[in-house]
Amino acid sequence: PKIIVAIDGYSSCGKSTTAKLVAGQLNYPYIDTGAMYRAVTLYFLQNHISLTNPREIENALDNIHISFRRHPELGRNDTYLNGLNVEDEIRKMYVSERVSDVSAVAAVRHALVAQQQRMGKAKGIVMDGRDIGTVVFPQAELKIFMNADPLIRAQRRQLELLQKGEMVGFQEIVDNLKNRDYIDTHRAESPLRQASDAVYIDNSLMTLDEQVELVVRLADE
Ligand code: C5P
Repeated sequence: PKIIVAIDGYSSCGKSTTAKLVAGQLNYPYIDTGAMYRAVTLYFLQNHISLTNPREIENALDNIHISFRRHPELGRNDTYLNGLNVEDEIRKMYVSERVSDVSAVAAVRHALVAQQQRMGKAKGIVMDGRDIGTVVFPQAELKIFMNADPLIRAQRRQLELLQKGEMVGFQEIVDNLKNRDYIDTHRAESPLRQASDAVYIDNSLMTLDEQVELVVRLADE
């Protein structure tokens, strides 16, 4: 039987990398909800949407269409905003710096959570984010809460950015992760929390293969 796999956790703890590979092994679609919040943030930045103007936000949300397209030959799962491939743009530091404030806006969450729930209608999905096991799919058969040492997370993030050609200082990355974790766990609307029935995985000392194998094994149980 096909199941819903919900993977939540702090920023840059390896959720997406693991989730993508788990989805491949289970032959399920993979949805990166962080990419959806990042795409909304990019749109808000490009169109100078004020976070204190509810009407402007509602209007903007009506004009935002987010989709994903898989490019298996490239090992990529790209995010599209209104038909444009924004995969590289949404990972940049200037988006990371704004995304948690945008994600704290209740109207933004309501719109994206509704879309995520529609995407999970046909069972057999791996979704990662901050509120998947608690809000989007509280009924998910498998919930994972991932974590890793903050310095290891920052190292991984720095490498990821470097591979994309963006050189960012270590301290700036540490500060961004800390700041996002703080906003994500303290916002009023569905803050980041470990679901009571989630399996906790600290992957600081695990290889990617080990993480994937563990989650796939839990999914098969
Ligand atoms: O997963 P990623 O680090 O790309 O997510 C970027 C940001 O999007 C997070 O720091 C968080 O503010 C927001 N987010 C969220 N809820 C989700 C996924 C991401 O609030 N389900």
